[in-house]
Amino acid sequence: MNTGFSAEELAFQSEVRAFLRDYRNVDGFYCQGHQWPQVRALFAAMAEKNWLALSWPREHGGLGKGPVFEYILWNEVAYARAARNPLAAGIVAHTIIRHGTPAQQQTWLPRIRSGEVHFSLCYSEPEAGSDLAALRLRADRSRAGSHYVLNGQKCWQSYAQDMDYLWVLARSGTQDSRGRGLSLFICDKQTLGITVSPLPTVDGDQLNEVFFDSVEIPLDQRIGEENGAWPIVGEALADERHIQFPPGRLRRDLEELVAWLNSHDLGNDPVVRHRMANLTAQVMEAEALGLKVLEAMVRGRNAAVDAAMNKVIHTVTCQDIARAVLDFGGPEALVSGCRPELIWRQSLTETIGGGTTEIMRSMVARQLLGLSA
Ligand SMILES: Cc1cc2nc3c(=O)[nH]c(=O)nc-3n(C[C@H](O)[C@H](O)[C@H](O)COP(=O)(O)OP(=O)(O)OC[C@H]3O[C@@H](n4cnc5c(N)ncnc54)[C@H](O)[C@@H]3O)c2cc1C
Repeated sequence: MNTGFSAEELAFQSEVRAFLRDYRNVDGFYCQGHQWPQVRALFAAMAEKNWLALSWPREHGGLGKGPVFEYILWNEVAYARAARNPLAAGIVAHTIIRHGTPAQQQTWLPRIRSGEVHFSLCYSEPEAGSDLAALRLRADRSRAGSHYVLNGQKCWQSYAQDMDYLWVLARSGTQDSRGRGLSLFICDKQTLGITVSPLPTVDGDQLNEVFFDSVEIPLDQRIGEENGAWPIVGEALADERHIQFPPGRLRRDLEELVAWLNSHDLGNDPVVRHRMANLTAQVMEAEALGLKVLEAMVRGRNAAVDAAMNKVIHTVTCQDIARAVLDFGGPEALVSGCRPELIWRQSLTETIGGGTTEIMRSMVARQLLGLSA
């Protein structure tokens, strides 16, 4: 596929591929929880090249590269199935760069850039996922006003069992203040009153519940204005749109399926060929949409609708590929613990995390087609 990348960008792609050859045993894209020490070591090695800060401005210690370099990096890492882009270097760092005080920037950015600290995203709650503005976790100032006290619960936190810090969205305004009453906090996971409890997932990995029982957070660990987090959260999400669903994952899944079909002499079966033609078209559609999101980012356009379409096509396609493996492979592909069966179970989680298919389709209907809800 001709992506139109420049010579410098293609040289970077080759460099990333060469780098990843030394980490071919890192297998953290699907189930990071099983591979965290290896993924952490990979991130540390990337940090030595300053790749965790690839797109940060130079004045904050970054390399000042644009979204294309970031896309190339995380797409190659996805193709290698090594890892997903870490929250700390993305959402957390970009938010601190934009909205943190100089002291917060000095405290957190060097530790993130070096891969020393990692974060888990604490947004969703049992009654607030799609409707995030309904969240209830309380953040109240202590009577003396010296710190915040957090009480309540988060739910479905990826990787919280392994991360050092939590990036917490909490309600500091009145209960009915919706998006106008939310603030963002950094919480050290070891703080007294925090309990992380596993929620085993269908792919054998885990999400987590995180409970806050009178957890004291210093004032200087609030990022941005009190009650001012809602636009910041949206902005941070927008920063990541081009790297959230890298098509390299689909290309790799498809290539493995083709290799498997050929090794089982199924490549000439007309039914198989018909289905493979459709799957290949779907993967190419996801690749094109991924580049469309990237183009919007490069040109500074709002990529929300393109990203919503990309998420639907990407996540449905990874399920379709996994399903085809099971259909073609029969009992062999269904043996518990073998790769196709794992990919099938893992792919089930993709249409929910990061916003459900229904929510993405509604956004496309409203914003692209002008259909009102
Ligand atoms: C693998 C995975 C990783 C995750 N990681 C994190 C994480 O790290 N941090 C974090 O904070 N959260 C995380 N989540 C939570 C995720 O963001 C939520 O699960 C998701 O936003 C859906 O919210 P919900 O579970 O509350 O479902 P609900 O919002 O209750 O939705 C239930 C069903 O109703 C449908 N629905 C809801 N509202 C509408 C509507 N308006 N129109 C049409 N249909 C609707 C949904 O599509 C869904 O089918 C993760 C989830 C998964 C599966």
